[in-house]
Amino acid sequence: MKVKQIVLSSRPKGMPTKDQFRTETFTLPALQDGEVLTKALYFSVDPYMRGRMNDAKSYVAPYKVDEPIVGGGIGKIIETRSSGFQKDDLVQGFFPWATESVHKATTVQKIDTELAPAPYYLGILGMPGLTAYFGLLYIGKPKQGETVVISGAAGAVGIVVGQIAKLKGCRVVGIAGSDEKIKMLKDEFDFHEVINYKATSDMRKEIKDACPNDVDVYFDNVGGSISDAVIANINFHARIVLCGQIALYNSTEVPTGPRLQPMLLTRSALMQGFIVSNFKDHFSEGMEQLSQWVKEKKLKYEETIIEGFDKLPEAFLGLFSGKNKGKMILKV
Ligand code: NAP
Repeated sequence: MKVKQIVLSSRPKGMPTKDQFRTETFTLPALQDGEVLTKALYFSVDPYMRGRMNDAKSYVAPYKVDEPIVGGGIGKIIETRSSGFQKDDLVQGFFPWATESVHKATTVQKIDTELAPAPYYLGILGMPGLTAYFGLLYIGKPKQGETVVISGAAGAVGIVVGQIAKLKGCRVVGIAGSDEKIKMLKDEFDFHEVINYKATSDMRKEIKDACPNDVDVYFDNVGGSISDAVIANINFHARIVLCGQIALYNSTEVPTGPRLQPMLLTRSALMQGFIVSNFKDHFSEGMEQLSQWVKEKKLKYEETIIEGFDKLPEAFLGLFSGKNKGKMILKV
C-alpha cells in the first residue's frame, strides 16, 4: 500500500520553516502477526517536537533526517492481525506523520469516544492534560486561597492548569499573547486576572497589580523575560513549576537574564523542572480524575483544529507564533 508521509528534510537553526519538511510517498510493509494498520484521523503537534529536530541529547531521541516526524496521533484501524482490536476501532499512540501506518498492537490504546470527542485524547485527556495535572498538583501543590500564575495560559496545558487551580480554590492569573486569548480566559474560563504580555511595557508591575498577595505557585510554560517578571513577585515558600520554556526553544545563543537565585533563596522558594513521563506510574490516577472532571463538566476544553494532512508543518510552526487557542490539532 502506498501512503503519503512527511519527513524531516534538514535540521533547523533557530526558528524552523516549512523547508525543514518534505512530503513523499512510501510503500508500507505487509502486516505481520500482532500488528494493526491504521488510517490517521488526527495528529497532535506539540512544542517539545522542536527539541527533537535538534541533534542533541535530551530525554527523548532526536528525529532522524529523511525519516518521518513522529508524534501523538489518533487513527482508525483498517486492518488487524491482533485479536485485541477490530476493524474500525479508534486508537491513540505515537504515529509517524503518514496517512496510514503500521503499529505493534501493544503500542496503541483504544479510546472511548462516548466520554469525549476523539481529539480530547491528544489534549485534556492526553499528554497535555496529564502534564497540567501532575505539574500543578504534585509539584505546585496549590492550597485554597493561594495565587497561581500561569504563563502560556491559553494553550493546551495552560487552560487545564488554570481550571484545576480554580477547582482547588486558588486565585488564578493567566498570561497570554493576544486580546482574543485574554478574552477567552476571562469570559469562558473565568480566570481572575489575565495579562497580555505583548501589550504591556512593564510586566513586573502588571504581575504585582494582579497578585496583591504575591505569587504562591508559578506554572511556567514559556520562560524568558515573562518568567523573570513573575519570579520577581514570588511569595515566601513559593513553588515554581518548570513545565516548558517555549520562548527559548528557537534561541541560537544562550540567553542571559536576571540572576534568580537570590530571590529563590530569600523567599525559601522551590523551583522544579519535570517531564510528564516522570509520573507514568500515576497516569491511571491522572486519567481517572481528568475524565471524571470532564464528565462532570468541571473541566472544559478549547481546540484549534487545522484540516488537511499537508498542513501538518504549518500547524506545528503555528505554535511558535501563538496561532492556537487551546490545543493545536491537525485533522487529516
Ligand atoms: P501551547 O501553549 O498550546 O502552544 C504554545 C503557545 O506558546 C503558543 O500558542 C504561544 O501562545 C506561546 N508562545 C510561543 N512562543 C512564545 C514566546 N516566544 N514567548 C511566550 N509565549 C510563546 O503548548 P502546550 O502544548 O500547552 O505546551 C506549553 C509548554 O509546556 C511548552 O513549553 C511545552 O514544551 C511544555 N510542555 C512540557 C511538558 C513536560 O512534560 N514538561 C509536557 C507538555 C508541554 P501566546 O499567544 O500566549 O504567546
